[in-house]
Amino acid sequence: MKTRTPEEGRTALTDDAERNRLLAEMAEQSTDMISRHTPEDWRFIYVSPAVTHLLGYSVEEIVGMSAYDLYHPDDVEDFRLRAPTVNYDRGLYTHTYRFRCKDGHYTWLESTSRTIRDPATNEIREILVVSRDATHRIKADKATRRLARVLESTQDLVIFVNLDLTVSHLNEAARNALKLEQTDYSAFPLAWFVTEKGLRLLLDEAFPSARKTGHWRGELAMRCLKASRIPVMLELLAHRSLHGDIEYFSLVAHDLTEKKAAEEQLKQYQADIDHASRLVTMGELASSLAHELNQPLSAMVNYLRGIERRFAGASSLAWSDLEVPITRSIQTALRAGEIIHRMMDFTRKQEPVVTSLNLPELIRDMIEFCESMAERHNVRLVFEPGFELPPVQGDRIQLEQVLLNLIVNAIEASNSPSEEKVATVRINVDHHEHRQLRVQVKDQGPGISEADMSRLFDRFFSTKQTGLGMGLAISRSLVENLGGELWAENLPEGGACFSFTLNIAD
Ligand code: ADP
Repeated sequence: MKTRTPEEGRTALTDDAERNRLLAEMAEQSTDMISRHTPEDWRFIYVSPAVTHLLGYSVEEIVGMSAYDLYHPDDVEDFRLRAPTVNYDRGLYTHTYRFRCKDGHYTWLESTSRTIRDPATNEIREILVVSRDATHRIKADKATRRLARVLESTQDLVIFVNLDLTVSHLNEAARNALKLEQTDYSAFPLAWFVTEKGLRLLLDEAFPSARKTGHWRGELAMRCLKASRIPVMLELLAHRSLHGDIEYFSLVAHDLTEKKAAEEQLKQYQADIDHASRLVTMGELASSLAHELNQPLSAMVNYLRGIERRFAGASSLAWSDLEVPITRSIQTALRAGEIIHRMMDFTRKQEPVVTSLNLPELIRDMIEFCESMAERHNVRLVFEPGFELPPVQGDRIQLEQVLLNLIVNAIEASNSPSEEKVATVRINVDHHEHRQLRVQVKDQGPGISEADMSRLFDRFFSTKQTGLGMGLAISRSLVENLGGELWAENLPEGGACFSFTLNIAD
């Protein structure tokens, strides 16, 4: 070993003294509490002034006290059990525990300890400890753990994704819903868990919006690895670092399967009511239609009887003798067939199909359909279409249903008892604002009383003895579903006017 010259020895001595002085000064000024303890019972040999700020004791008060007396009772045992296993010979030991302040309350400290040993005997001479207030960290840890528990127990699917859109964490609900059996899914791309359409929406809209504004919300379909679809309401959040860079994204998806099923059920229920209402309207028309069908049937019987008569006694007949009655029979049978066909069409249960429709043609059809009923009520149906009307958007059967409800109501309201005084129901179509057409059905009936006006479109509101009171309610919802409006008003000259609008087809 190289021996120091006297000169070198002096310099080393001043260096050591200087270092100790600096260290002592740092300890005195540090906001961390620096303390030295006896190895047996952890009595304070020295403590820096930070003790006053951290624990409320003055330096003089605490020196001589044993740290064991200040540990929280729950932590003492833990500390005693750990201490021998740590042994202090493998460097540093850090632990977090509660320590009693002078005013009696406990504060969380995080301490790092190391042993100072006698170089000759290797005996522990004392323990050097640096402690700091860990209350904030413990509170933050607790809050994080609480949040993590909420995250794990929520029924919503929570997924964290990295910037490269690989999954970093899925909560239990997400693992269950996505039917993930293995535990390590962290490298899975997010694309595996959303439908193709959903992924396009995420990439084109959701992620760019979350990058810009921090979040995005919308509906899309996720899918599990076993391919079944899960409709969800998704909340996408971008999480930024303190410097403002996006670090990762979180997706909170609320499973809409049950809601969608309920909506589907409601739609089905609505369709059933619509259908029932069509059957009722058809019922109202039935006696008139039966009358209308009777006419062609009697006509056909007459033609066939004529042919029968011509055959009777004649040995041979020329085609010219039979042509007229046979062609007329066929035409009449076809007309009867058309009426039946329309009735069947109208009462059949079918999914609505929105197409572009020629409104005047549809109205003419419906007028023809109601003609025999109008006749029986001494009502004249007049149609006044405007010029150059473009096609509208709608489902044919639904629009027929609306028109039929309004025309049948108008005929029933007009109900002229005398044949001389024929009432008129006028139907007209014209252009309305916002690229819409407007249909008006005007009658010469008593109009609508002020009290009835507010209830007119309520379900089951009817002033008729056998009325169901669903016609107007359904008509309004059908028109509104197509983007239009349906309303009623009284005409200044008397009578009611029901109007509805429809969007012009693009
Ligand atoms: P219902 O015809 O089965 O009564 P609606 O919903 O079609 O059911 O009509 C509800 C009510 O609105 C009718 O009972 C009637 O009182 C009133 N109403 C409908 N159309 C007219 C009209 N053109 N004139 C006067 N009142 C009408």
